[in-house]
Amino acid sequence: MPARSGQEYIERISESGIDVEIHGERTVGAIGAIPAFKNLIRTYADLYDLQHEPELRDTMTYESPTSDERVGMSFLQPRSVEDIVRRREMMQTWARHSNGMLGRTGDYLAAAVMAMAASADWFAQADPKFAENVVNYYEHVRENDLLLTHTLVTPQINRAVGASEQKDPYLAARIVRHEDSGVVVRGARLLATIGPVADELVVMPSTVIRAGPDDAPYAYAFAIPTDTPGLRFLCRESFDTGRSHFDHPLGSRFEEIDSIVIFDDVLVPYERCFLLEDPALCNAIYSDTCAAAHMTHQVVSRTVAKTEYMLGLVSLITEAIGIGGFPHVQEKIAEVITTLEIGKALLHSAEAGAAPNSAGLYTPAWAPLNACRNWYPKASQRFPEILRQLAASGLMALPTEADVFGPGHEDVERYLQGAAIDGPDRVRLFRLAWDTCLSAFAGRQTLYEYFFFGDPVRMAGALVESYDREPYKERVKAFLARDASPLEIAVAADSALAESR
Ligand SMILES: Cc1cc2nc3c(=O)[nH]c(=O)nc-3n(C[C@H](O)[C@H](O)[C@H](O)COP(=O)(O)OP(=O)(O)OC[C@H]3O[C@@H](n4cnc5c(N)ncnc54)[C@H](O)[C@@H]3O)c2cc1C
Repeated sequence: MPARSGQEYIERISESGIDVEIHGERTVGAIGAIPAFKNLIRTYADLYDLQHEPELRDTMTYESPTSDERVGMSFLQPRSVEDIVRRREMMQTWARHSNGMLGRTGDYLAAAVMAMAASADWFAQADPKFAENVVNYYEHVRENDLLLTHTLVTPQINRAVGASEQKDPYLAARIVRHEDSGVVVRGARLLATIGPVADELVVMPSTVIRAGPDDAPYAYAFAIPTDTPGLRFLCRESFDTGRSHFDHPLGSRFEEIDSIVIFDDVLVPYERCFLLEDPALCNAIYSDTCAAAHMTHQVVSRTVAKTEYMLGLVSLITEAIGIGGFPHVQEKIAEVITTLEIGKALLHSAEAGAAPNSAGLYTPAWAPLNACRNWYPKASQRFPEILRQLAASGLMALPTEADVFGPGHEDVERYLQGAAIDGPDRVRLFRLAWDTCLSAFAGRQTLYEYFFFGDPVRMAGALVESYDREPYKERVKAFLARDASPLEIAVAADSALAESR
């Protein structure tokens, strides 16, 4: 099957028997009829339709190596720097469609599955069957253009102890037993964004798993259809409250629901398992297969698109109310520009430094991507703050669509006009700013950017542990060697740097 259309996505998800609980109601199947998901499904369908726009054909799709059909570009296994750039252009086309507000578009996990399949031999060290499984799975997802969600984190019960030491060993999802056809999994995992509207659930390790015998049942990697018997998605409250695109311009389009995943003795077939009871390999899966680099490439491509949107929005807000000339306002606009340029520079640096990994898969340079994934979660927290500081009461003097085009129309025209914008358009613009920095949707976006890729504190620890700081220490030591001449210091520093490359 070629890259799918929006209608094909809607039909498949409508036929699925996903088990979902939201707002106190449990539904099995008929997901499209649940009000909280209607707009999200429509938005994701729009993304799939973009694959069929004639002028985007070569950006969004490529010819499958097995079926000769055109399949989604995010499945392309890059063999050159040009391929890496093609992947980014596709990813940014989707990201710009939502102003970077959709974090879990199909390209996010396609990147992981694509990279893991390229490293099939790495899985074979545990079992040759796992290598076969990961390649078959990649091809299945690519050829059917499936949308994946994933769940990595154990329930937030007691973080002071590991999964095996919780009050009950079946709170965090674990392997209960082996059967002839697969393993049985019981317990819960957090937090599957878009879980109820995805085709497949990927269940992978996240934080470091200890290698004791009690921890082995929690160490696995597998993927199953989201409507597998015994699998349930318990959703948070939806922030798409059924208001119009005018009133909730982002929440009414891009609300990616988050869900707790519950495994009620789910049978996972062996052919869908990639690793089983292997803490050491689970802890290395992202780095050794370069899945982390390809996923981060997608993330940075998206966050650059989001920052472009922030700059456009901040600029329009300041123009609308005539504050763009004040120095502190310009300082804040400059902060957004700087964030954008740093993100673009790190992205381009990663692409320019792309090289084949041990499996021959071209992979963006990890150091700039790693720097970006450590920096952006914090830098992005400033966007809502800046918008609030600049838009001020304009974020609250905000009648709804019913007022703007109803009885309040004259008042809106007169009192809510801006320096360079009429009243209704100003309300439309400021409602967008409100949904970017202040609404429940905006709050979730801010939390998402901080945590979705892992805990920034532990990512910082991983950066420090893995970064080669020796050349820089040597340089300082050389400087401290007071009997050394300036020439000796320069030579020592240069040779240390050359060694590190
Ligand atoms: C909006 C949103 C969407 C998400 N979507 C997904 C998704 O689709 N799929 C998915 O798998 N996950 C998803 N996540 C989960 C995300 O991966 C986690 O939030 C992240 O890994 C942090 O884990 P945690 O939330 O359990 O925080 P915790 O680990 O409980 O941390 C809570 C606090 O305690 C500190 N802490 C806890 N343990 C330690 C420790 N060992 N060392 C130092 N500090 C510690 C942390 O620094 C933090 O301040 C999502 C999260 C959010 C907020």
